[in-house]
Amino acid sequence: MKLQSVPSYSQGALDKPLLAMTIGQAFDQTAARYPQGEALVVRHQQQRYTWAQLAEEVDLHARALLALGLQAGDRLGVWAPNGAEWFISQFASAKIGVILVNINPAYRLSELEYVLKQSACQWLVCAGAFKTSNYHAMLQELIPELAEQSVGALDCVRFADLRGVISLAAEPPAGFLPWSHLAMLADEVEPEQLRCREASLHVDQPVNIQYTSGTTGFPKGATLSHQNILNNGYMVGESLGLTASDRLVIPVPLYHCFGMVMGNLGCVTHGTTMIYPAEAFDPGLTLQAVAQERATGLYGVPTMFIAMLDHPQRTSFDLSSLRTGIMAGATCPIEVMRRVISEMHMGEVQIAYGMTETSPVSIQTGPADELELRVTTVGRTQPQLESKLIDAAGNTVARGEIGELCTRGYSVMLGYWNNPQATADAIDGDGWMHTGDLAQMDEQGYVRIVGRNKDMIIRGGENIYPRELEEFFFTHPAVADVQVVGIPDAKYGEEIVAWIKFHPGHTANELELQTWCKSRIAHFKAPRFFKFVDAFPMTVTGKIQKFKMREISIQECQQK
Ligand code: AMP
Repeated sequence: MKLQSVPSYSQGALDKPLLAMTIGQAFDQTAARYPQGEALVVRHQQQRYTWAQLAEEVDLHARALLALGLQAGDRLGVWAPNGAEWFISQFASAKIGVILVNINPAYRLSELEYVLKQSACQWLVCAGAFKTSNYHAMLQELIPELAEQSVGALDCVRFADLRGVISLAAEPPAGFLPWSHLAMLADEVEPEQLRCREASLHVDQPVNIQYTSGTTGFPKGATLSHQNILNNGYMVGESLGLTASDRLVIPVPLYHCFGMVMGNLGCVTHGTTMIYPAEAFDPGLTLQAVAQERATGLYGVPTMFIAMLDHPQRTSFDLSSLRTGIMAGATCPIEVMRRVISEMHMGEVQIAYGMTETSPVSIQTGPADELELRVTTVGRTQPQLESKLIDAAGNTVARGEIGELCTRGYSVMLGYWNNPQATADAIDGDGWMHTGDLAQMDEQGYVRIVGRNKDMIIRGGENIYPRELEEFFFTHPAVADVQVVGIPDAKYGEEIVAWIKFHPGHTANELELQTWCKSRIAHFKAPRFFKFVDAFPMTVTGKIQKFKMREISIQECQQK
């Protein structure tokens, strides 16, 4: 068959049925199956739970949330870095049909105000302080009524729905309900009341709102159901072959789907031990967690793996227990994949591709895929899902051609919270989620992501995909990480700028890099400008903020 004649459409396997249960039911099933198995290790809090102990904590806090008056469909915000309470909030709220609202712990006043209002949260769980954020002080500024009114009966001008704030700090200021008091509140609610609530829930109800990073405009709240995220965690774990003997290190943030779906739900559906190495990513603590916990799996966005590979003490950690893991969330450079396999013992590492709006994973490499495909593509369509690539007119392009990736199936979000227009713009009448990512599909259905729609550079009429150039620069021995952006140019329409981070102790100058490009790539692809940096502007989840890089490059290049 000729490559060009086959449309870029593929359907994932249909022989693996979806789980038809709520998140609470799936959690209880695992806790009943492996009561004495280790469920959760939170190293920075020195806490360890068996599945039976974790189930007790989850039920206790679910009853406490019922005592606070939370109804099915109400919203509970969580604004905290990784920790045991994050996990407990996730599963306690799911058990009583409350919608968990993930709030980025790096958010400051205006962003917090926006998401609290937009999601109309009834209760909020917050940390005390973390890094440069003092959560109590920010909330006191935003909600001056907190200190004056009785706990749990907030009547506040700014947030009409908000009734109170639970603090994870040991001794929070007046007006905050300490997390430690929840155990007492639970006594007011009989276990039977919890069982009744659980029995009233169904799998299509919303259980989670995740605000997408939103590089432009206001963040939108992707609203996800039990069916969406439970099954996505399950399918991701199936692809990795997770079992109750596996131990997975989760250094990615829980407020993002990588942590709370691929991590927590991936493990909960397989009885796998979850290991949180720190409140937020730290390369040394993550490597230490792998070594000391004899972990079999490790997750991370590419920049996290780069930081671990370049960690000065890496070789002193015994990583030989590792077998698998996932790199995802952004372009996974081929060289980094190869090094993770050869230098971190992750022979079975997989790449996953997805977005918050699709729960997140829609495409993933598999254990049986050849090495070359596992490092150069994001794999094939996940079970029970469909993918297609379309052109600007909405027609499916032929295999091998570049088109916008669209996803359809169980994992597509219910919609953006309270934003029907944005939902209609993202999900078409046939149920396809338009991702905004450009991709290519080969004859066997393997997908290569070539970049974001808006990141494509058009220089002198030539289409240039930053991904291709980035992969090229990764083959330079001095380059540890690289990002390529386009900036406006009067002569060519756009010019190329490469931001480069060197390996420790390595360097190269602009002329050397230009010369190196000359003999290896077409002249029109060679960057006109280079910028040497120690880090890129990025979100906590490892998303490179190319729009910021573009702004900086425009300013700097104008001065040249
Ligand atoms: P988020 O909703 O924050 O998870 O971001 C989703 C976006 O991350 C996608 O639309 C892609 O642009 C990017 N992304 C996720 N996984 C990958 C991957 N494996 N390769 C390239 N880009 C990815």
